[in-house]
Amino acid sequence: NDEEAAAKAAALNAGSEAPTIFDKIIAKEIPSSIVYEDEKVLAFRDINPQAPVHVLIIPKFRDGLTTLAKAEARHGDILGHLLCASKIVAEKEGILDGFRVVINNGPGACQSVYHLHLHVLGGRQLKWPPG
Ligand code: AMP
Repeated sequence: NDEEAAAKAAALNAGSEAPTIFDKIIAKEIPSSIVYEDEKVLAFRDINPQAPVHVLIIPKFRDGLTTLAKAEARHGDILGHLLCASKIVAEKEGILDGFRVVINNGPGACQSVYHLHLHVLGGRQLKWPPG
């Protein structure tokens, strides 16, 4: 099932510093549906959406941030910028009154792509607690 597949993919990629598919998306070598872009971040629709709105926001320069667990003081600017971008995305998508920002960190959270990314989810009633 989906949950097992996600856990397996997460275990497979865990801790990798290799380039990811997101590098190809940033380079526009593979297509994506871009929602927002500036000099620091790119926001595009998730290929396997978990809600009517499901957008990923990534830093254009990974700078060691394979996961949030790698965050250092020098990453403060980009981490703040990513959060501000999530608000811009929510506004553009018309979900400012109900959206969720998620970062899956590591295999225990089913992170499958080791390039830091925020998930912006909305467009339906979101449940709590998440899975
Ligand atoms: P995570 O499990 O938090 O690492 O999330 C990675 C996300 O990237 C998943 O929700 C995938 O559906 C998504 N994803 C993987 N490849 C692509 C792609 N080529 N375009 C858009 N989203 C993708």
